[in-house]
Amino acid sequence: MNNITFDKIHTQTKQKKLMDMMHLSALACHQIYNTNNPASACPICQSTEFSFYVEKFGFRLDKCHKCQQIFCNPMPNREQLNCYYNGEMGEFENQFFEDSFENRIPIFDYRIKIIQQYLDAGNLLDIGSAIGIFIEALNRANTKLNISCCEPSEDACERLRKRFPKVTLFNDWMQNLPNTAQYDGISLWDTLEHIDQIDTFCTKLFNLLKPGGYWFFSTPNTSSFEWEIAGKDHVQLLPPGHINLFNPNSIKILLNKHDFELIEILTPNGSLDVSYIEKLLAKSTKYDVNIGAFLKEKFKDAEFKDGFIQLISQTKNAGNMLVVARKPK
Ligand SMILES: [Zn+2]
Repeated sequence: MNNITFDKIHTQTKQKKLMDMMHLSALACHQIYNTNNPASACPICQSTEFSFYVEKFGFRLDKCHKCQQIFCNPMPNREQLNCYYNGEMGEFENQFFEDSFENRIPIFDYRIKIIQQYLDAGNLLDIGSAIGIFIEALNRANTKLNISCCEPSEDACERLRKRFPKVTLFNDWMQNLPNTAQYDGISLWDTLEHIDQIDTFCTKLFNLLKPGGYWFFSTPNTSSFEWEIAGKDHVQLLPPGHINLFNPNSIKILLNKHDFELIEILTPNGSLDVSYIEKLLAKSTKYDVNIGAFLKEKFKDAEFKDGFIQLISQTKNAGNMLVVARKPK
């Protein structure tokens, strides 16, 4: 797991073009009037104590003082979100996933290993399948799971159909799926941070699961090493794409609110944190104050670096969470 690095999964083309694309896409979204009012409470814990955190691409992000959730405020409305996902950004993302397809497989291998600890057969619904890197990893792992995919992007669905003709495919938003509790498991990889109406989303997801069914998901962890160093410069602050950024505490509150049982939170990819922070430290001296200069030097020592990666991975301090939750029996 420790050889997954930032450069391997973010191709050079993506790193160069992402910011230009974001600016263009955000500009298009701002042409549409946002009919949403600013929130008067944190979308996760309902606390009224929150304040301005940072502005990115013309969108304001607030941070809750109580659960530390970072959220877009006001949330972009549906028309703006449709504009963002159906514009050039969608195809850009799909192409970028094609380019980093093989390098991303190991991330999913680990996730599949965790899924198999809880579920070895039955119906698994993958929400937000994109171009199907997870589906490919599942096929290679020869699981007995019966897989369905839910993916709103037409471009992605075309690629999915070609690659996996046997998989059941819903080219739609998850909210539009029939309301039957038919899945033994639902997977949702790096998607929760994109969701605007988080409570509606969780209720729907709960209803799709059979009693005792599992929800496996991943999302950025803002209470982590890489966020501690990068702060407001973090590359994942990407509204209107990323509009809800979690930490282990806000995840617990969200699951509890929706009657899910939290089984475990893991942060397996500490090597991503270290490779990202190394890049950041090499690019600018602004992080040298305090710990930046120290780390820049210490990361040259392979033993320190490996030990550090192990430490943040095992103590839930790495920047991506893998969460296992369950609908009660
Ligand atoms: Zn809160």
